[in-house]
Amino acid sequence: MFDSDLDREKIRQAAANPPRRAFLAGASAVLAGLALWQWKKSSVLKVAAAADSRPKEVSIVLFSDAGQRLKQARIAKVIKTEGEWRKQLPSGVFDITRNADTEIAFSGKCWNLHDKGIYRCICCDNALFDSATKFESGTGWPSFWAPIAAENVTEIRDTTFGMVRTAVACTECDAHLGHVFGDGPEPTHLRYCMNSASLRFVTKI
Ligand SMILES: [Zn+2]
Repeated sequence: MFDSDLDREKIRQAAANPPRRAFLAGASAVLAGLALWQWKKSSVLKVAAAADSRPKEVSIVLFSDAGQRLKQARIAKVIKTEGEWRKQLPSGVFDITRNADTEIAFSGKCWNLHDKGIYRCICCDNALFDSATKFESGTGWPSFWAPIAAENVTEIRDTTFGMVRTAVACTECDAHLGHVFGDGPEPTHLRYCMNSASLRFVTKI
């Protein structure tokens, strides 16, 4: 039936190739799908990594309750879920510290406080301000001309409400504290306009 072994071999190859090509096409589709899945996975991971790009450790200065500067320390950043913060904080304090709300002027517990002491973060206890830098701003919010240590607060550009302001947050836990303005008194000419609700006052002993 066949002229030679060569012809027989050609027929055999022709018969064998289609399924092989189909297999390769199928394999290509699988590989393409795998590549797409890998790409999607890596994109998701990249997004997750970007969302979690904040340093897990922060450098702050530790202070005693007497206001004494103890030491600079690298500590783990305080990161909690919304549910955990809600459990820890009264709702008004949660709204201010975790959602950047602002308390009504003259309504807080610290605007008219003149005792000697330090002001700690209501969320994490990080030392934030010393009464030695507190001044009467007439705004109805506790006002300071400097933080207790530059490292302990973080300044963030804030463009909400159609204004460009500088928001101030706790370095250790990201609690919103208030804003800083350039119309303060000597020696810095800064006015850290804080929410009483973000602060816990500790009397100097
Ligand atoms: Zn804090």
